[in-house]
Amino acid sequence: MALLPILRYPDRRLSKVAKPVVRVDDRIKRLVADMAQTMYDAPGIGLAATQVDVHEQVIVIDISTTHDELHVFINPRIVHSSDIECEAEEGCLSVPGIYDRVVRPERVTVAALDANGEQFELEADGLLAVCIQHEMDHLLGTVFVEHLSQLKQARIKNKLRKLERESA
Ligand SMILES: [Zn+2]
Repeated sequence: MALLPILRYPDRRLSKVAKPVVRVDDRIKRLVADMAQTMYDAPGIGLAATQVDVHEQVIVIDISTTHDELHVFINPRIVHSSDIECEAEEGCLSVPGIYDRVVRPERVTVAALDANGEQFELEADGLLAVCIQHEMDHLLGTVFVEHLSQLKQARIKNKLRKLERESA
């Protein structure tokens, strides 16, 4: 397993749309293992392949405090989302130090392949539902801050560019 470098917003590669995984083979299994390790190391609760510059539809999520409840979603698709929405604070490993509130459906049912290529469906609410939708956005090339106002986005870009210059 290996730690993978995480792209930082506003890197243009975060805007790429991920392609479906054709076959859950050893390469994809290695990617899943590396992404999980990278997420736990960061530490974070979710990571999309887009964030490690792999533009295929792979997501890992673990919202447990014990770091032993890994969810793997390959080629995920929302099959149902609730009309009721809720607002929750989100953060992102690609947007370090920035947290803000985003409105999303409160409950989603997602269909995907697991790390063995088996089809499954999962109904999620609360933090898991937020996380699934946040990571699926990444696969479509959308970072959570793009749900915020233009003014906030401009401020966040400036702040992150400044941090990058300071650390360079
Ligand atoms: Zn993110």
